[in-house]
Amino acid sequence: MSQFNLVLLGPPGAGKGTQASRIVAEYAIPHISTGDILRGAVKNGTAMGLEAKKYMDAGDLVPDSVVIGIVKDRLQEPDTAKGFLMDGFPRTIPQAEALDAALDELDRAINKVVVILVDEEDLVKRLSGRRVCRTCQAPFHVMFNQPKVEGVCDKCGGELYQRDDDNETTVRNRLATYRKQTEPLIDYYDKAGVVARVDGAKAPDDVYEDIRMALGPAGA
Ligand code: AMP
Repeated sequence: MSQFNLVLLGPPGAGKGTQASRIVAEYAIPHISTGDILRGAVKNGTAMGLEAKKYMDAGDLVPDSVVIGIVKDRLQEPDTAKGFLMDGFPRTIPQAEALDAALDELDRAINKVVVILVDEEDLVKRLSGRRVCRTCQAPFHVMFNQPKVEGVCDKCGGELYQRDDDNETTVRNRLATYRKQTEPLIDYYDKAGVVARVDGAKAPDDVYEDIRMALGPAGA
């Protein structure tokens, strides 16, 4: 592929963040995570952040107009010219349509959608035990991926914390929201013939190998 205009799709907890860091490193494209951008806005106390926090804490989606605006602005940055990896966007059909329209104006199109599939009960276990580094966002897990020192990031020494929306009630709502609003996107992109499905129950290294096979060599 001459351009890597990629979308990473999958339920919360499927390992999108972990796989995203590897993909962007190998394919040299920017990582566009609407969740990270929104959490940044919440942390900085911007008007958009204050508005978004209500939805995020409940496990609901932030309104389409807000996230579509964020992504359109981001696509104006020159680092996206060779490609990008969308992580956590689009999450609704109107978002996918807005993304297609924005890319069309730039004479571009999504050329691969990687879908990571994981069983729902596994996702609840993964998410409710998840801890994330405040500084570098590296993910850990209280059972499955413990840091060497409790509460401290192995990679950068930052403080590990539990996201406000990783409690079980919110997690169940996020999964229901995914099923209802985001899963239909698999069909949407299937129609365009760009979907690659990978089994997210495998170990992270094996999941990544499957993703590489689907994407083909970097720079080809
Ligand atoms: P994430 O880090 O991708 O799990 O996103 C965390 C939360 O941010 C979600 O539960 C939503 O409330 C909000 N969010 C992130 N991306 C989107 C999006 N594309 N559309 C609507 N809400 C989003």
